[in-house]
Amino acid sequence: MNRADLNGIGMTSRRTRERLIQRLVDQGIDNQQVLDTIRITPRHLFLDEAMAHRAYEDVALPIGFQQTLSQPYIVARMTELLLEGGAPERVLEIGTGSGYQTAILAQLVTEVFSVERIKPLQQKARQRMRQLKLRNVQMNHADGGLGWPERGPFDGILAAAAPERIPEELLQQLAPGGRLVIPVGGETQHLHVVDRTHEGFETTVVEAVRFVPLRPGTVR
Ligand code: SAH
Repeated sequence: MNRADLNGIGMTSRRTRERLIQRLVDQGIDNQQVLDTIRITPRHLFLDEAMAHRAYEDVALPIGFQQTLSQPYIVARMTELLLEGGAPERVLEIGTGSGYQTAILAQLVTEVFSVERIKPLQQKARQRMRQLKLRNVQMNHADGGLGWPERGPFDGILAAAAPERIPEELLQQLAPGGRLVIPVGGETQHLHVVDRTHEGFETTVVEAVRFVPLRPGTVR
């Protein structure tokens, strides 16, 4: 397992980070591996300087291009759901954004394949992976609604942007025994978990969420 570089842990007090972890526990996150990974991953490195002081609050924060770094609670929740029933080896992430969720995944699974449609966001995220020495991440500038067929099938797929309905491509790229965690909807959205069994697909609706929409096409 890779561990994120602890550089910068001195910059924010341990107490601030512990407060965030306690908040996640209070909200029902109980996967210790997930909590430990969030504890040691420097979230402030995923934000511009002007926002970095808010990095350990449990809120979504702007990263430019009208996109946001996901709230720690939802990152924890989705990761926990993805890991339930055994650690997936190959994971597809849709919507790299800042790369924060990517970095969390990279420390918990064997290989991460992350797709982002906005090139400048992807480039920054790539630099952060390098800075944190997370080498098991491959990135693609593409429309993640189409998955990443050349790299599939995947044991796990996690989406950080919400489609109106689940794209067929993602279901097809899920390996048998694999799990998809994805927000679905428009004005109101719900987190869906889809398990691929040998018989077909089993869907569970987990909770109400709020994500940016999954948009088609790419931005240079
Ligand atoms: N987990 C990320 C969340 C980023 S917000 C973080 O914590 O930083 C969601 C991201 O999904 C945005 O960067 C947005 O550009 C991206 N996105 C939206 N539609 C997409 C698509 N079709 N393919 C790939 N990425 C997409």
